[in-house]
Amino acid sequence: MTLELTDKVVVIGAGIFGISTTLALAKRYPELKIQVVDRFEPPVPDGSSVDTTRCIRVDYTNEIYSELASESLAKIKKDPVISQFFHETGMSYTYDGKHDRWEDFYLAGKESAEKANQAHPEKVVSLDSTEEVFKSIHGKEGAVPSAIDIGRKTWWNKGYRNFSNGFIDAELAMKAYYERANSYPNVTFTFSEVEKLNYYPTTNKFKSVSLKNGEEIAADLAIIAAGAWSGKLVNLQNICKMSAVEVGWLKLTPEEQENWKDMSITTNLSTGINLFPPYNGEMKVLRRSPGYKNTVTVANPDPKANDSIEISYPRTKVTNPSDWIPKDAEIAIRENLKEILPSLYQRPFDRTRLCWLTQTPSANFLIDHHPHSENILLATGGSAHAWKFVPVIGDKIVDFLEGTLEQRLVELWSWREKLGDKADNGSAPRMVGEPQEISQVIRTSGNENLCI
Ligand SMILES: Cc1cc2nc3c(=O)[nH]c(=O)nc-3n(C[C@H](O)[C@H](O)[C@H](O)COP(=O)(O)OP(=O)(O)OC[C@H]3O[C@@H](n4cnc5c(N)ncnc54)[C@H](O)[C@@H]3O)c2cc1C
Repeated sequence: MTLELTDKVVVIGAGIFGISTTLALAKRYPELKIQVVDRFEPPVPDGSSVDTTRCIRVDYTNEIYSELASESLAKIKKDPVISQFFHETGMSYTYDGKHDRWEDFYLAGKESAEKANQAHPEKVVSLDSTEEVFKSIHGKEGAVPSAIDIGRKTWWNKGYRNFSNGFIDAELAMKAYYERANSYPNVTFTFSEVEKLNYYPTTNKFKSVSLKNGEEIAADLAIIAAGAWSGKLVNLQNICKMSAVEVGWLKLTPEEQENWKDMSITTNLSTGINLFPPYNGEMKVLRRSPGYKNTVTVANPDPKANDSIEISYPRTKVTNPSDWIPKDAEIAIRENLKEILPSLYQRPFDRTRLCWLTQTPSANFLIDHHPHSENILLATGGSAHAWKFVPVIGDKIVDFLEGTLEQRLVELWSWREKLGDKADNGSAPRMVGEPQEISQVIRTSGNENLCI
């Protein structure tokens, strides 16, 4: 569809997809009325786009994402407001050294990092032993724990460090992007949950949204950017799978912050652990595990349907404030800390969170019209790697609406691309396995069994 200047657009969701699209629309169409609806004012407390850190890297093995990420990072660095929240700490990728799929990821990743740094080869450094991996975090000091010390074979054995990438404070940045979007006279924000989409009688044509606060907002186009919550608003027919991964924060002493201030974001591909450098007196640790799902039955959101469907739907700190990451997650994180950050092995977490992903089979985003509805655009499927594209993804979404998006991107992000068996493009690889049902494993408090 082409946009008419008199149109009204409703954007559901003020995470990275929603805010970036709003900014692009507001700039290109000053006369267009843009109504953004979110459950909460950004930065949304349980939104996937809001966190202490998100990695910003350009060394994708896939050239399309690599080009887009480079363009995006250049924009972040040039932006006088957003650049303040970016920290160029570098990123290290390590693994256990076994000849399995993680070695393939390591080799492909290193090659991409070298390619991305052709002009500065000194920015990519090999970590060829357990000792080199350990010292990349601890500096020259500190005794490397041996297999005897930890009672098992070591897992952090080999890797590379790329000094070009870094992390952004994803909470402060989202607040700034929101304030920017809100400064456009043609943009209005409403904070209430969209309960359902309404269609013209007996048609599939979108008409309006009904909000929990009783309001009904009519519009010519709805952009569904509701992240992991999207499956309740439109039937995604399993092409996006919603699950959450475990995150925890540990308080650090001033001495620890100083000791580790030069570490890069360090990932162990084999164990899925992501360690972030000290930030605001804390260290964030997450695990790219198979994750956790929350199965619920909801009314089938297809316009003419009368039945119900099962989906996995976010259960978060907002809905369940006392939730604490499952025991297996905590044990796995601590078992890694025992080896790579021994002094944190038994430190209680300050807080934990399950962070929700909207995963497509290929890890390619979903930017397409809904195949069974009119005037509904889907802008989701972040697949654990979309944050870094905030400065560019909204323009691509508006290009799509205008019919000017490059064909290769139209195809990559299409609904059709997600059908059938698709290989994950490896942008944010996760450990193999099926997500566990949250209700069966969630705890209301943690930090028990600190000695594993
Ligand atoms: C643990 C973790 C680590 C990640 N690490 C990285 C990384 O290092 N680098 C990177 O680039 N990406 C990373 N990602 C991915 C990135 O964060 C996501 O792809 C991106 O934030 C998704 O944005 P979104 O707009 O789709 O979702 P969200 O930010 O969740 O936005 C959806 C919004 O819709 C709103 N909403 C939902 N339903 C309704 C409703 N019915 N009515 C009104 N509002 C509604 C929600 O409140 C929410 O604010 C990571 C993701 C996770 C979970």
